[in-house]
Amino acid sequence: MSIGVRMSVKVVCPYCGFGCNLLVDTITKKVRPYRGEPNRGKLCPKGLFALEHVYSKDRLRYPLKREGSDFKRISWERAISEIAEKIREIIENYGPSSIAFIASSKITNEENYLLQKIARLLGTNNIDNCARLCHESSVHALKLTLGAGIQTNPYSDLEKFKALMIWGYNPAETHPVVMQYIMNAKKNGAKIIVVDVRETTTMKFGDYKVIIRPGTDITLANAIMNVIIENRWYNKDFIEKRTVGFSEIRMGVKKYTPEYAEKITGVPARLIKEIAEAFAKAGSGAILWGMGVTQQIAGVENVLALINIALLLGYFGEKGGLYPMRGQNNVQGAAYMGTLSEFLPGYVPLSDSEFRKKVAKLWGVEDLPTERGLYLTEYWDAILNGDLKVLYIVGENPAISDANVLKVRKALTKLELLVVQDIFLTRTARYAHYVLPAAAFCEKEGSYMNSERRIQWSHKACEPLGESKPDWEILTMLANALGLRGFNYKRVEEITEEYFKLFPELENRSVEELKNSEGIVIPSPRLYTDRFLTPGGRARFISVEQIMPWEEPNGEYPLILTTVRLITHYNTGEMTMRSPSLTKMIGEPFVLISREDAQEYGIKEGDYVVVETRRGNLTLKAKISNIQRGVIAIPFHFEANVLTNDALNKAGTPELKFSAARIRKV
Ligand code: SF4
Repeated sequence: MSIGVRMSVKVVCPYCGFGCNLLVDTITKKVRPYRGEPNRGKLCPKGLFALEHVYSKDRLRYPLKREGSDFKRISWERAISEIAEKIREIIENYGPSSIAFIASSKITNEENYLLQKIARLLGTNNIDNCARLCHESSVHALKLTLGAGIQTNPYSDLEKFKALMIWGYNPAETHPVVMQYIMNAKKNGAKIIVVDVRETTTMKFGDYKVIIRPGTDITLANAIMNVIIENRWYNKDFIEKRTVGFSEIRMGVKKYTPEYAEKITGVPARLIKEIAEAFAKAGSGAILWGMGVTQQIAGVENVLALINIALLLGYFGEKGGLYPMRGQNNVQGAAYMGTLSEFLPGYVPLSDSEFRKKVAKLWGVEDLPTERGLYLTEYWDAILNGDLKVLYIVGENPAISDANVLKVRKALTKLELLVVQDIFLTRTARYAHYVLPAAAFCEKEGSYMNSERRIQWSHKACEPLGESKPDWEILTMLANALGLRGFNYKRVEEITEEYFKLFPELENRSVEELKNSEGIVIPSPRLYTDRFLTPGGRARFISVEQIMPWEEPNGEYPLILTTVRLITHYNTGEMTMRSPSLTKMIGEPFVLISREDAQEYGIKEGDYVVVETRRGNLTLKAKISNIQRGVIAIPFHFEANVLTNDALNKAGTPELKFSAARIRKV
């Protein structure tokens, strides 16, 4: 590893979407927290030890080409020219819809922007990113009702609101630094309501602890609305002036009395009334949610139900906000840059001919493809059916991260060309024909967008390892080898300037301004202060009914399996599991089981058990916990997706949070 080029460099954390800044000392290889926004001098363990994986002996140092069951070193020139030749050949023989790309939620905006530009210039919208697996349900619901699929307010607003409803989301482990905002809100007198399927770390800080039966979120949300409407605690003025569809909601939630909801959700009717009253009477409030809400067959409808609560109370602008808390550090940026198969940059629909022409003009072509591309969760069947022949993956690891991974792994073996750009030989890269070594987060520069839509510049702290290159340089080489025009970038800032041209809020801003600031928030930090982004400017209530999970427990598979996250590990673990300080804290996978179920199955703490679903089985250590009876949970970071359900909801997100399962002692 080369010695650092500067002593202390401001770099965006490579892990969660909260978007902390790290001050990297490249001589001592230590990290300190940045004192400004958004992390205000705080970091969680992942951020603190974020350099450890960069110095791992497992880092890829040069391009690799598959030869039989092994990989051989190959030059950059040969790798890129062979990949480009194969892509051209496949397009010629089968058309552009036979190729697909997976963008990355942990590479920069510039790199995501380039990847979708390549895909679209090759004639396909088969470009997607892992937002499909997490918050696409939120995007669809928010866009339908409010006009934009994004978080509505800045983190700092959380401290001002008088009630926070935290639903299917465990920030104490997934976005630990957001907890300082939540704790400040509590100190300022806010009531904290936590809804989850188990007693999470976050729940310990809650004023109201609401344990819900998995998959019954709509019933609980509708019951909360039923109480608010029955007691006339709703915001009549806001509803009349700024919404449509209230009568539909009034009728829709009528049958969801607290007593009826208790039978479905397991939440006592008394508690439902209490939380409805606490949230409604607070006068201002936010709803924060995570994948416990979105990764269900009813993911879109769950989010619609939460939005309905906020609309009833007029909790928008200064009075409140909606916070779909994003997973990875640039999942918001990846989506904004256009790496979703149904949207152009800025979530603009493919059917918007005016914007499409604007993008095409910028890229020097007549028009762009208009047909929706495949969702990445649809790629696997398309490969197995023979429709997809080429998959180009940048910094994602679907062989671990996607639902029902045994099927995904089978599909990966059927491709005519699989290229993986990454920093390690990941589980997915092991199936590749070519593996291209990418620079790590601190070895390159570029911009990232966090959950509150703050675009931040991440500076370069050290040189790329071996022959590895920043992803934007690799993609520029590829585009030129493919014969695409408009890829003459010599500096990453040229790409930043190009994407700035697509967004009215950025048109007159400069890259220097971005570099020297604490970030630029687009479209604006606080949305919907006076109008929504729907065509008429009003928000739309959409009434939803309870939707039952795809795969309900039965005699054969009597338990419900869900997945959880740990503070010390991140997503598929390729980075955190190469960090000695983090693996020391939690190194081995386990399954959480209730005391009652453990007794029934004769399982003791630390016993090895086999957990089985219709898709596969895993042997894990049992941990007896305060999870509700009938539910077991496995941390997502290990091999949990061998077991999970790949049934897709309307947004293309699998029901990762609910599978029928059984358990037995080894
Ligand atoms: Fe990084 Fe998120 Fe931890 Fe902050 S909270 S240090 S962004 S992982």
